[in-house]
Amino acid sequence: MYLVMIGAPGAGKGTIGKIISNELCLKHISMGDILRENIKNETEIGKKIQDVIEKGLLVNDDLIMEVIKERLTKPDVSKGAILDGFPRTEVQAKVLQKHLEDINSTQEVMAFEFVVPEEEIIIRIVNRLNCSNKECGEIYNLKTKQPKQEGICDICGSKLIKREDDTEEVVKNRLKQYHENSKDLLEYYTNTNKLHTINSSNLEIAIDAIKEVLNKKEVN
Ligand code: AMP
Repeated sequence: MYLVMIGAPGAGKGTIGKIISNELCLKHISMGDILRENIKNETEIGKKIQDVIEKGLLVNDDLIMEVIKERLTKPDVSKGAILDGFPRTEVQAKVLQKHLEDINSTQEVMAFEFVVPEEEIIIRIVNRLNCSNKECGEIYNLKTKQPKQEGICDICGSKLIKREDDTEEVVKNRLKQYHENSKDLLEYYTNTNKLHTINSSNLEIAIDAIKEVLNKKEVN
């Protein structure tokens, strides 16, 4: 099963994706993390996308598909995965579907849209800190989920960092991009009966709601 996490920046895709990934034993794949790793390692892809990401714009579909197709060939996702931040456009969603058919994958795609009021999103993002250890990747918030020791991850002890695109100015651009691209994406998943909309103001309630959808799916 491929669970697609859709939502504005700060809607909880990453945090919820990680929890669900542990519970379902499915690999959590964050497209944003893969892209940031390319920038950090100064790969050819990283050099092409750095400027785009810093401005809060979307990386072009061809490049994203190149990255994800390569990732989906790895054996750790043969039974599916949590796809966090991918697809972000209708084109990406359609190419994903076609790719899964081409590789004869029997895994189904389910899409979850996370909805949070915009004022809450800005507060979440400007206060967000991430664990710098990519194997851990725990997410903190200076208002709602502070680390026990300032600047240090409770789980692995690594340094906490602030993403360069987590500023109010860039977030406004990222939100604009989200609204421009998500309409067709959500319509595509609605029309293919794959979309489930979840209120993610409260993470625990959101996770219960996802489990309920998945349980119902198993029963049917
Ligand atoms: P995220 O970590 O999901 O917030 O993504 C950070 C940034 O990476 C986004 O603002 C985009 O610039 C880029 N990005 C991530 N996923 C995608 C995608 N599926 N399509 C295009 N750009 C993406």
